[in-house]
Amino acid sequence: MTGKRTVPRAPRRVVRPRTSDAPKLRRSRSSEAAKGSAPSTFSAVCHCGRVRIHVPRAPRTVTSCNCSICRRYGALWAYYATGSVQIQAPRGGLSSYSWRRRIRAYFRCKTCGSVTHYKYRKKWGSGTVAINATNFEPHVLQAARIRKLDGASTWTWKYLA
Ligand SMILES: [Zn+2]
Repeated sequence: MTGKRTVPRAPRRVVRPRTSDAPKLRRSRSSEAAKGSAPSTFSAVCHCGRVRIHVPRAPRTVTSCNCSICRRYGALWAYYATGSVQIQAPRGGLSSYSWRRRIRAYFRCKTCGSVTHYKYRKKWGSGTVAINATNFEPHVLQAARIRKLDGASTWTWKYLA
């Protein structure tokens, strides 16, 4: 569960979807544009809508992990550079969970319980944030590949198809 080296890294810079992907990767039709988000923003929104995470591009890959926490959350993780993500939540609207060595903090919406993202605690020094991609509208994930990470034991992964 430590395996910091094996955690996929998000690109350092914002990368726009490749031209060939463009038709499939329209941005979310929610009302985000009206709220002043950048033009190519996708939003992962919790069930009740109080927590909204804006990311610069649709995920190309999402990770399904069988470790003790991910298997319970049923999350699909999409990794981004921390600075490229905007997390919008009411004050006090998120609760977090960490355990044992407290390497990561997992966040969920306090109102609806949706798991929204995890971050590394500061001392672990990661510039990566993992967004729970199950909170995107399904069309955002249409082109994404799913990779199965064996976080329970070997920390190796393979693509599903
Ligand atoms: Zn919520």
